[in-house]
Amino acid sequence: MSKKIEYGKLIVIVAPSGTGKSTMIKRLKLDFPSLVESVSFTTRPMRSGEVHGESYFFIGREEFLEKKEADEFLEWAEVHGNFYGTSKLFVEQSLHEGKHLLFDLDVQGTDSIKQYFGEKANVIFISPPSVEELEKRLRNRGTENTKVINLRLMNAHKELLRKNDFDFLIYNDDIEHAYKRLTEITAKILAD
Ligand code: ADP
Ligand code: 5GP
Repeated sequence: MSKKIEYGKLIVIVAPSGTGKSTMIKRLKLDFPSLVESVSFTTRPMRSGEVHGESYFFIGREEFLEKKEADEFLEWAEVHGNFYGTSKLFVEQSLHEGKHLLFDLDVQGTDSIKQYFGEKANVIFISPPSVEELEKRLRNRGTENTKVINLRLMNAHKELLRKNDFDFLIYNDDIEHAYKRLTEITAKILAD
């Protein structure tokens, strides 16, 4: 981006895979219709139930690398063996239109967004109650094979080391309790 844009609020949700981030984001978008989610590009295979253009834009590695070369990503990262990237054009246009943006990113992407937008980016880290519970949730979700689950769990240990580095921390033990806290934080960010 050529210059920093000062409209709209930015909320970044970051959590180890399987914590409950997508579950909470889905509800949050219904309760806060003014929030617009930044739909990322990814090379990860589509899960059953996911929708191209809603969950992600699912593209091949070659196309992803072409976009990267063309500088189309505000940030991108390799996460659990796949590429993920945020559309620069979408963020730029949405902020110009005064929209509040919601991002679902890993810690690398979160660091990039924070570096770019500084205090304007409000980062909420969601932590599972324990790694054991995280493993249960990943296995019960049933969307990844054992090898991928193990990779995600290994990465979770590293991501959890960063849990105190951001603006807000929520433990997703009881979903209703955690979600209520998320709505309180979101309402405060949007009102400030
Ligand atoms: P993420 O998007 O962080 O990878 P999901 O939202 O897909 O995680 O949640 C992973 C699994 O855990 C899903 O099956 C979801 O229904 C379940 N889940 C989410 N929050 C809780 C919770 N507080 N207690 C038990 N299960 C949960
Ligand atoms: P999943 O494959 O479970 O949907 O996502 C895996 C991880 O990639 C999650 O931590 C998610 O937040 C992260 N992620 C999703 N989109 C992006 C993105 O555009 N950039 C970055 N850096 N991470 C992303």
